[in-house]
Amino acid sequence: MLNFKCETGNYHTFCPISCVSWLYRKIEDSFFLVIGTKTCGYFLQNAMGVMIFSEPRYAMAELQEGDVSAQLNEYTELRRLCVQIKNEKNPGVIVWIGTCTTEILKIDLEGIALRLDRELHIPIVVARANGLDYAFTQGEDTVLAAMVHKCPRNVQDYHTSKTSNNIVSTKPTKHPPLILFGAVSDTTAKQLTVDLNSQGIEISGWIPPNHYIELPVISEPCYVCGIHPYLSRTAVTMMRHRKTTLIGAPFPIGPDGTRAWLEKICAVFSIRTTGLEIREQQAWKSLEHYLELVVNKSVFFMGDNLLEISLARFLTHCGMIIKEIGIPYVDKRYQAKELLFLENVLTEMNISFPAIIEKPDNYRQLERIRKLKPDLVITGMAHANPLEARGITTKWSVEFMFAQLHGFVNSRNVLQLITTPLRRNANLQQLPWNSYSDVQKIKPIERINPPR
Ligand code: SF4
Repeated sequence: MLNFKCETGNYHTFCPISCVSWLYRKIEDSFFLVIGTKTCGYFLQNAMGVMIFSEPRYAMAELQEGDVSAQLNEYTELRRLCVQIKNEKNPGVIVWIGTCTTEILKIDLEGIALRLDRELHIPIVVARANGLDYAFTQGEDTVLAAMVHKCPRNVQDYHTSKTSNNIVSTKPTKHPPLILFGAVSDTTAKQLTVDLNSQGIEISGWIPPNHYIELPVISEPCYVCGIHPYLSRTAVTMMRHRKTTLIGAPFPIGPDGTRAWLEKICAVFSIRTTGLEIREQQAWKSLEHYLELVVNKSVFFMGDNLLEISLARFLTHCGMIIKEIGIPYVDKRYQAKELLFLENVLTEMNISFPAIIEKPDNYRQLERIRKLKPDLVITGMAHANPLEARGITTKWSVEFMFAQLHGFVNSRNVLQLITTPLRRNANLQQLPWNSYSDVQKIKPIERINPPR
């Protein structure tokens, strides 16, 4: 049995408003307006790096003293900004991102959005992706869950819906409609589409689509399936509000996960799979070079992006020893199949079960890292350099969010990320200043007394 523990929640992660950085590029006609303070602005400006110089389709609505003390009217201020956005950028949709401040001030964003939606004739989606309630990737979850409410309900128009998106099939299908949800790059979306098509399955729509107008019809006969492990709210919204059926499957990360994901979808539609075993074997074969580097290496996930369980399962299959899986939050129903898969892999490989720590405490984790001395720690930037300076090899966890991980082909990217610090350290071993990584060996600097 998997061993779940919960700590204090004193851990580093990105604020969920960071989802703006990948969602504005995915939904090409969108504009994101983050309604918050300078704190949120500083975070986005720093986290997005050079992207801020490329005229991104996002902006901050910075709350002023007058907003907080209710001297300014929220409706008038937001209306002014939305008119400006409409005139300057002409987007297909404006997404308002609520922050900690809008939560604390209890600004009725949904009410104002409804009014402005009608007045300005532009769809406004409200997502409360604040740092009070959510961690990092869950920001995408709140945006997608809000978008589900905007999807058309008309089943009659299903196969002729305005999908110009070339990754979506408009052919009639032999099975009930299947909608996939989760933001992935177009290349990854195409690869997964090809894999499903080769089993005779057509995808009827994606959330998010490339353009707001391409939101798929979602209503009762639809089946939905998630790509990412952190989209539990979106799944629940589609089930509760649109009466769709959720296909619970392990997530398509690693050759093992991709095969299990495809098999589960086929099983739900009573389709016999063909050639998946060979496809998986070929994918593992292409990873041989990396597997040699990772086998029997231990890994510790400090936990900040909710991809940890799927990655841990894939890395276990690769022969790595998982010391701890830190994770901000586990929805045990949405991730049920992934958790079961991990449990089965550990049992089959006769490996002791690592602890799964929800809401980890970074301070306690550092104590455990000091004791366990793992070969690799997957962690945020706050701890990466300090750990490296103490001789612990690290991989920055945020990179997993921005790399292409899904499907058979991209399994290589996961191992490339994992092995980068291992390969680099092996190369640096030969350098004479390697001993600097051991703090014990550094001589204290002699104090020079200032001249009197
Ligand atoms: S945690 Fe809250 S205040 Fe900080 S950046 Fe995120 S939304 Fe803004």
